[in-house]
Amino acid sequence: MPPTAARGRRAIAASLPDYAPQLATSGLAAPGGEDWLHELSYAGERLCCVKRRTRVKIAAPSGEDCTSHHAALAAAVAELPAQALLLDGELTASTYFAFDLLHLDGVDTRPLPLEERKQLLRELLRDAPPAVLKYVEHVQDDGPRVLRQACKLGATGIVSKRRSTGHNSGPSADWVLTLCAPKPGTALIHGVPISTPTRLLYPALGFSKRDLVQLYAEIAGWVLPHVRGRPLTLVRCEHGATRPDALRSECKFLRHASGWHRWVPSHVQRVQIREREKLGEYLVIQREADLLAILNGDILELHTWNATVARLEQPDRLVFDLDPASDVAWPDVIAAARLLRAQLQTHGLESWVKSTGGKGLHVCVPLAPQHGWDSCYELSRRVALQLERAAPRIFTTRFEKLARHGKILIDYKRNHRAAVAVAALSPRARPHAPISVPLSWRELAREPAPDRWTVNNLRTRLQKLKQDPWADYWSCQQTFAAAR
Ligand code: ATP
Ligand code: MN
Repeated sequence: MPPTAARGRRAIAASLPDYAPQLATSGLAAPGGEDWLHELSYAGERLCCVKRRTRVKIAAPSGEDCTSHHAALAAAVAELPAQALLLDGELTASTYFAFDLLHLDGVDTRPLPLEERKQLLRELLRDAPPAVLKYVEHVQDDGPRVLRQACKLGATGIVSKRRSTGHNSGPSADWVLTLCAPKPGTALIHGVPISTPTRLLYPALGFSKRDLVQLYAEIAGWVLPHVRGRPLTLVRCEHGATRPDALRSECKFLRHASGWHRWVPSHVQRVQIREREKLGEYLVIQREADLLAILNGDILELHTWNATVARLEQPDRLVFDLDPASDVAWPDVIAAARLLRAQLQTHGLESWVKSTGGKGLHVCVPLAPQHGWDSCYELSRRVALQLERAAPRIFTTRFEKLARHGKILIDYKRNHRAAVAVAALSPRARPHAPISVPLSWRELAREPAPDRWTVNNLRTRLQKLKQDPWADYWSCQQTFAAAR
């Protein structure tokens, strides 16, 4: 091979980016206005197709190579009229729906406006076999009207995308998924054979595993942004939650996947994480099917790290766990959360609050993944100590039971590298089946109790909401001044 050709080949290969898909955030109403275009949501398996000269690779966002499972698609990609390309799309049944183009023949197309990327993509796929590889068309009409029509035709929902923005990896406010309201009793639980579906996970409520999987199939669009891409710790209750102290008596915290991971299907991602003493294997949810498969294993709580596996050493969130002593009144817990919010604002940080489904509140601070674990931990400790000093009758940072009498412990230790907090919208292992629920600061003032929302009334809450109470959380990329 002549040296120039070899150089050319290397240049193309080197310029293909890693696959780091842009993720839609979930919305309550489809955005209207000229800025947006709308596509049908396919609720399939997110995959990229990469072509370098004659070689084609089909891979999952985890990097997992699944080319061998999709021979027809690989063949269709091999035929496309380009030397090097990276397609982004979703596979449903046997058709791959391509909706984005991240690279084309040595050109990084990611900075181009979406509309231009789609134009290139459409041209590229013009002669592709439509049963195998299809371009995703869009419409540019009023969002809510598009959604109504799509739902009438039996779609699961629509994805609205800003026409003029470049590609951005990870959750993005430029892409909004709005789901059609499920018809009562007809929610499909795609491809998840539920084992022991009638097993009562919450016997006091007559609430079965089938009920739980069905609920999460309906609200997956709300849940996924909170859990996706993060190392998990799971709480498994094989006999459900019957006792108030189920977490300690009837359930197990499952951290490292090895040993018990056999019941978790192989499509659920595993990651190896270097820990102090060994390499730990963790499960990671990337899509709805993973979430449902995990719940199928009698899992009653999902806990997540403060970092995603994509940026494991740069947390994208802090969590402050407010733990009131048993003699602290609920309105005082709410007031304390507001004080914490104000204290964080003095560091230039906005925060969002959620109920835990237990006794307290979690105050969450989204971060641009830039600071390391040590700086994040130090900052959270500093904030907690500042509050304790400013309001010593309300707050304590001491974990001993006696020191906490009448006070609220600000547990900043949730911000250690391997620490977890219960995920927003996770159910809890308690007999009345409460759920940890994201709240707006405004509604927090009227919130009657931390365990008010349960598997029985969460649907109604989500349906009635006019806006995601954490709508701005997803795009909030904050940094802070590290301690000197
Ligand atoms: P509450 O409002 O009742 O305090 P909580 O979820 O904050 O609910 P905590 O006992 O304060 O419960 O624990 C805080 C977090 O620490 C939990 O959300 C969980 O992620 C983590 N945690 C608690 N106990 C364990 C455990 N045994 N193993 C692993 N993680 C745990
Ligand atoms: Mn707590």
